[in-house]
Amino acid sequence: MFQDQEAHAAELERTFIAIKPDGVQRGLIAEIISRFERKGYKLVAIKLIVPSKEFAQTHYHDLKDRPFFNGLCDFLSSGPVLAMVWEGEGVIKYGRKLIGTTDPQKSEPGTIRGDLAVVVGRNIIHGSDGPETARNEIALWFEPSELVSYASNAEKWLYGVN
Ligand code: GDP
Ligand code: MG
Repeated sequence: MFQDQEAHAAELERTFIAIKPDGVQRGLIAEIISRFERKGYKLVAIKLIVPSKEFAQTHYHDLKDRPFFNGLCDFLSSGPVLAMVWEGEGVIKYGRKLIGTTDPQKSEPGTIRGDLAVVVGRNIIHGSDGPETARNEIALWFEPSELVSYASNAEKWLYGVN
């Protein structure tokens, strides 16, 4: 166990990541999970669900006045979504870097959207955009009991704490 485990735990943060129905249908689950896993982030919750349209509207409530809102919610509820929570230092911000910008045409090569998607309406993945959003989205998609806290043997090598 970590000697300064409390200090280390305080540094850890969690973010909500979802592979949207297009990513699931295109067989990109393993590819996307692998990018988060290889980086060194820890998977603490995962499930495959088909959200209702109402649920999709709640998830995207910030965008309710945008012209694409209805189509976006229809799309998110059109098939299985792989909902996940990933944990690690800086995972909210760096997770968004791994994902790339909203429009895949503007995403850098090497990012998930840059490498694997073409248009904004089918950009395959969602990631929380800040600490408050992350907390709210994790609470919306998961029961507390679905979040698994565990020590990973890799952590002492990833973070250099003993
Ligand atoms: P994100 O945080 O990068 O996913 O982007 P936003 O929170 O701004 O938007 C949520 C999702 O709405 C995006 O991932 C896209 O799937 C979709 N979206 C955003 N902007 C547009 C747009 O201009 N047109 C369409 N069709 N969809 C959009
Ligand atoms: Mg967003």
